[in-house]
Amino acid sequence: MNHQAPEHVVVIGGGIFGASTTEQLTRHGIRTTWVTAGSLADGASGRTLAWLNSAGFRSEPYHRIRLAGIARWRDFSRRVPGSDAYLRFDGGLTWAKPGQSHRDRFRYERAHDYVSAWVRPDEVSGIVPAVDPAAVDPEGAIFNADEGWVDLPSVIAELRREIEAYGLAEIVEHAGRCVPVVEDGRAVGVLTAAGERIDADAVVLATGPQTPGLLQELGVPMGDDSPAAFVAFTKPLDHGLTAVLNTPRVAIRPAVDGGLVMDSGWSERSITVERDGTPHVADDVVETLLQEAGAVLAGHPTLELDHIGMGYKPIPGDGEPVIGETDDVAGLYVAFSHSGATQGLVMGELIASEVITGRVPELTEPFRPGRFAS
Ligand SMILES: Cc1cc2nc3c(=O)[nH]c(=O)nc-3n(C[C@H](O)[C@H](O)[C@H](O)COP(=O)(O)OP(=O)(O)OC[C@H]3O[C@@H](n4cnc5c(N)ncnc54)[C@H](O)[C@@H]3O)c2cc1C
Repeated sequence: MNHQAPEHVVVIGGGIFGASTTEQLTRHGIRTTWVTAGSLADGASGRTLAWLNSAGFRSEPYHRIRLAGIARWRDFSRRVPGSDAYLRFDGGLTWAKPGQSHRDRFRYERAHDYVSAWVRPDEVSGIVPAVDPAAVDPEGAIFNADEGWVDLPSVIAELRREIEAYGLAEIVEHAGRCVPVVEDGRAVGVLTAAGERIDADAVVLATGPQTPGLLQELGVPMGDDSPAAFVAFTKPLDHGLTAVLNTPRVAIRPAVDGGLVMDSGWSERSITVERDGTPHVADDVVETLLQEAGAVLAGHPTLELDHIGMGYKPIPGDGEPVIGETDDVAGLYVAFSHSGATQGLVMGELIASEVITGRVPELTEPFRPGRFAS
């Protein structure tokens, strides 16, 4: 293959994938323009549970990339002083709904070399003291000691500092909706909402849930299953929670300001979407979510809402990540995935590697954008 490393790349999207891709490109000496519609971290990366995990059932290649994702977060925590304020590995605790069992999930995780321990309800207080053991299903729970959580806006701010230190990137916020410019089947730049054209040798789309729409405009097929979703942020309280909880009615993790962040499947399904695509959730749904969270915590604290983060959750049509150059437009690369917190750093590494070398990293081979063509 005759691939030349690009001299100048434009990365579109101010979320974690855009941040990590720009950081990796500039780390490898590539001049990069990082452009985003509004402010950095104003998309899904600013309103996510951000549970770092590969728990439960999934394809082997997806499991591998998520494990690599967690490993990169461990590297980051060793490399960046003070990151323990917003990146923690205090484990994850999960239990099943009444009438269901997590025993198969536990056996599956153990069979796939995932760090997973079965704990009885009477052992829970010793492992995650902030949980009310009476809330745990009588069959017990799974504790995944290697899991954690991250505050992505804090990471994006740190990556921005690193990018600026390399002195090779221009960061453009509030550029409005940008679109790749394609000539003769090749991405040759980006047009900002104000009509400014930025020429480039390669363009990376890291535009979260907006990615399928942008690709379809360019004639690149892309499956989209991105639902409206929200997380609730509470006001700070003395909760003592360090682990991530995945319980039948609510998932919870600590927040950097001393509050909690939470979401759930049932509350997500309660969202209504206007004709123009604007999502809403009723106040009583949010209130019930807060009560469900209080009910699994020791002492059943009353949780007070600070704000909700509402928008779309990026999920490709087949649920698996989309990583790499498109078949239809040369020089146009895509980073689009759910579990993007877990893959936040490894995604940038994989995309940058392909952009620079032209070689498809083994980890990303099963996740090519071209698979949606048929
Ligand atoms: C409720 C919820 C819970 C989640 N829970 C987890 C979890 O527990 N674990 C996990 O690993 N992952 C989780 N995720 C997924 C994870 O948060 C996302 O996959 C990840 O944040 C996506 O990052 P991104 O950079 O791809 O997109 P985003 O953070 O959405 O960033 C995209 C950026 O691109 C900008 N943009 C879009 N279109 C354009 C355009 N045309 N021109 C210019 N700029 C544009 C946007 O303004 C935005 O700033 C969750 C997500 C949600 C919403």
